[in-house]
Amino acid sequence: MYPQSFEYVAPRTLKEAVEFLRKHEGEAKILAGGQSLIPILKMRFASFGYLVDIGGLQDLHYIKRDRDSIRIGSLARTSEIEESQDIRMNALMLAEAASQVADSQVRNMGTVGGNCVHGDPGNDLPSVMLALDAIYKVTGPSGTRDIPASEFYVDSYSTGLGEAEILTEIVIPVIQHGSGGAYIKQRRRAGDFSIAAVAAFVSINESGNCGVARLAVTSIGPINFRSKKAEEFLTGKKLSDQNIATAAQLLVDSVEPVADPYGSVEFKKEILRLVGIEALSKATDRALGV
Ligand SMILES: Cc1cc2nc3c(=O)[nH]c(=O)nc-3n(C[C@H](O)[C@H](O)[C@H](O)COP(=O)(O)OP(=O)(O)OC[C@H]3O[C@@H](n4cnc5c(N)ncnc54)[C@H](O)[C@@H]3O)c2cc1C
Repeated sequence: MYPQSFEYVAPRTLKEAVEFLRKHEGEAKILAGGQSLIPILKMRFASFGYLVDIGGLQDLHYIKRDRDSIRIGSLARTSEIEESQDIRMNALMLAEAASQVADSQVRNMGTVGGNCVHGDPGNDLPSVMLALDAIYKVTGPSGTRDIPASEFYVDSYSTGLGEAEILTEIVIPVIQHGSGGAYIKQRRRAGDFSIAAVAAFVSINESGNCGVARLAVTSIGPINFRSKKAEEFLTGKKLSDQNIATAAQLLVDSVEPVADPYGSVEFKKEILRLVGIEALSKATDRALGV
């Protein structure tokens, strides 16, 4: 199908883009890589009077390593996240997740900003951002503000972003020595969205127990979310096989998936339990340097 007609606008600066969005609030939609938005328009699930193509704002296209963080411009492509040496060396789980997004065509066009902002609970990168405690930097008519990823996801396709606001940068802390993360995704075929996926981050404290645990879930429920119950259970405990299995069960107990073409409720819960165990075990091995 063809989308309903719209006017195409390509602002030359961030200021110009924000000003246009402010002026046409409710009628204008940001277009980045188009990998989620264009299919929605073509299927006529939504239509907008104006598409504001931010793809030309080169200032938003970078991956930089600071002392303690990695700063990713919102227009960095998913394929660039996958291949970045800075990310592979300092936040491997993010590269791991990026490499499992769709296929290479989608990864070459889709941006990290679009993936994180879209609000689809099947998107992979938001869970990693939750597990890494990322900060989203956004710019709008009232200036710039920081939104922690943990406060960003409100409901399916609904986020903390204002209509005239643009995500400009994502800041993630570098994974330190004694910490580790992993992203495990189970899907039916290569290129598919997941049946369930888990992003796990753990740190080991001086006693050799779990200092911090962050566990985020993809494709189960209306949003990507963290399981506080599982995280609290692990904190201060040994990251043994038994404790990891209990945490994965707590993760399962805190969700209410719905049956869909990807599987029944029971099937999804079992997949979630298994990917939970695998993600936590791998994150623990990485934290221990195994
Ligand atoms: C066949 C197919 C398979 C896919 N499989 C997967 C998968 O397995 N895993 C996965 O994670 N994703 C998957 N996706 C989705 C895709 O990876 C991302 O959602 C997509 O790349 C979003 O980025 P984009 O730059 O293309 O955003 P767009 O499609 O341009 O925009 C998406 C949304 O984000 C908004 N937006 C974009 N950038 C910004 C910004 N900087 N500030 C504010 N708002 C913004 C837009 O207004 C729109 O609402 C798949 C997509 C397709 C077509």
